[in-house]
Amino acid sequence: MRRLVLALATIVLVLSAMAGTSAQKQPRVVDLGHPLTEDSPSWTGEKVYVRTGTGDAARDGIAMGKIATDEHFGTHLDAPAHFSATGWTTEKIPVERLLRPAVCLNVAAQAEHDENYRVTVQDVQTWEREHGTIPRDSLVLVATGWDARWAQPRRYMNERNGVKHFPGLSVAAAKLLVERGVAGIAIDSPSVDYGPSEKYEVHRTTMPRNIYHVENATGLTKLPPGGFTVIVAPINIAGGSGGPTRIFALLN
Ligand SMILES: [Zn+2]
Repeated sequence: MRRLVLALATIVLVLSAMAGTSAQKQPRVVDLGHPLTEDSPSWTGEKVYVRTGTGDAARDGIAMGKIATDEHFGTHLDAPAHFSATGWTTEKIPVERLLRPAVCLNVAAQAEHDENYRVTVQDVQTWEREHGTIPRDSLVLVATGWDARWAQPRRYMNERNGVKHFPGLSVAAAKLLVERGVAGIAIDSPSVDYGPSEKYEVHRTTMPRNIYHVENATGLTKLPPGGFTVIVAPINIAGGSGGPTRIFALLN
């Protein structure tokens, strides 16, 4: 009898464990990047990405192609080495730095009225008042809504008389994020430094601390303020200063 009770108890335990597994909620995965296309916006306006088909499945029975690209094109990673002689090149970034709890600073309302909007210290503090201090080693996503212009490269780069205009971060806000010890910063505009920047001060603030960036991300304005995970998966170029990247969120 005791054996029977034990056996029954074991079955109940196994069944409940199985039920637990099947009931576990799968995260909703959200793509936060643009596909690479030759007519996507480039920093200079020149064509910097070319894909040549070298095989066609219908014609040749096999599809193949080769690509040539700038490292900083499309949705891409800036490795810390981009602006720091001692910073990690792409393949040196530890993979655990690329899978991170994320927070989202949504400044779309501010950027809507100011194309050169720069995230302020106050924006960060407002987020922190509501959600707590930005956790160490997290990835900070900056949602400006600028990605709505992606399909129109000239409007996206928004250059007039040699000066670009698009939103980014202030140096003071970048310094605060460095203080918080964040792993990386992703933004849905062409750069973490706002358009008119000539000296790339934000890059020079973050990259010497081995903080990486993702630029030209998309879909950030639809994300919650926090409580989710982001995966950044750049092309793993040895010695690279960055490279085209997949980036996606796992929402609970
Ligand atoms: Zn870049």
